[in-house]
Amino acid sequence: MATLLTQIRGKLTEQALAGAPMFDYYLNDPSTPNLIVKMGIWALPAIHPSFRILNWNGIIGVLGSYEAQCCQIHNTIAIALECVQKSSDRPVDHWAAARELTVYPHAGVDFNAYYDRSSLKFFYAVDPNTRKTVYTCESSDIVAHELGHALLDSVRPDLWSVGSLEVFAFHESFGDIIALLKALQHEELLQYMINQTGGNLEISNVVSGLAEELGTAIYRHTDPLRNALNQFIYSPPESLPDTRNPNELGREPHSFSRVFTGACYDILTAIYNAERLGAPAPVALRTARDVLARLILNALPISALSPRFYSSVAQGMLSVDRMKHGGIYTSIIGGIFSKRNIYHAPIPMPLRLSAPSRQVQKTKLEDIIVHIAEPLHNLGAAQNNSALNSAIMALKFLHEHDKIGNDNIFSVVDGELVRNRICGYEPSN
Ligand SMILES: [Zn+2]
Repeated sequence: MATLLTQIRGKLTEQALAGAPMFDYYLNDPSTPNLIVKMGIWALPAIHPSFRILNWNGIIGVLGSYEAQCCQIHNTIAIALECVQKSSDRPVDHWAAARELTVYPHAGVDFNAYYDRSSLKFFYAVDPNTRKTVYTCESSDIVAHELGHALLDSVRPDLWSVGSLEVFAFHESFGDIIALLKALQHEELLQYMINQTGGNLEISNVVSGLAEELGTAIYRHTDPLRNALNQFIYSPPESLPDTRNPNELGREPHSFSRVFTGACYDILTAIYNAERLGAPAPVALRTARDVLARLILNALPISALSPRFYSSVAQGMLSVDRMKHGGIYTSIIGGIFSKRNIYHAPIPMPLRLSAPSRQVQKTKLEDIIVHIAEPLHNLGAAQNNSALNSAIMALKFLHEHDKIGNDNIFSVVDGELVRNRICGYEPSN
């Protein structure tokens, strides 16, 4: 990984050449000391909302010192802001309720951190097992997560006071997604993730695990606080138990947030897998990362406020994909949200036949998908098999609703859809 020419290494080289002072930065947190890199103070993006770190004047310190912790916070915020600003159509230039956010690196004794509309507060406490003090400000995941709350509050201040478990949970999920995206800005971490998993992102890894050191201190065993790689399926949160058992999905917002975060991690993985067919793993992962960032950030302003907010954001992300990418990831995104029971795209109706009848011909599934691509996308077909099933379902539906005559139905022969007479559907107005 040290040989990669990367944006970060490029910046590091510039900083080193300029003689800029460097400090040791935790790419993840102190539980992974092999993931420490030398960094200078990261420049903030041209447009950014204002923040100040309490009792810090920009001085660099040795690892473990208050100054080093402030450098860690500053760079985590700066790198996360850079990612958000370059992926959003509308850069964030203000906070929801304060001209400037104050960051407290040592807010008090607790295993906790929070955003309260005027500040980001990071606490610390002694891990009872190791007797080591865990500083939440030293975790890139935790700092990026709290910043995520502040960024979401800036874009959607209307969510702040809504009494909805699902909206609360989305706030938590968005924080974790920002942590995930921020981690993937580091070329070293991106490459480490690929090496750690052998290129299979469906294996738990340093990026999918969130707040490992704090999780270990709280759970008393080596688990991250949350894992973006999970299989939790959506049920309305009101119907779920009030549990904090990490293996069970509960109504508590941090617990319930894992459904949406898991779906977004699945989207990252599926786009990576698709891109991987024609590109090296790091290139595919960078593409997947940038697509996910664009989808989630630009969905925020267009997602309707609703008690079923996960579904709103899912629809927003599908809209962004159509606007930004011409819908090329729609089947992946729709399939994942459908599998997670977050959003099921309706079968698009009405349709009408437009082309004149043709002679019987046998057509490969791919051709059919091209002809009725949009309906299939809306069905959320992610895999070839499910695409075939979705095609059959759609055609049965059309047939039952007299959109296709008896003599025009399709059939399946040896895994291929056989088009009996017609082709060319067009959506009616
Ligand atoms: Zn939170």
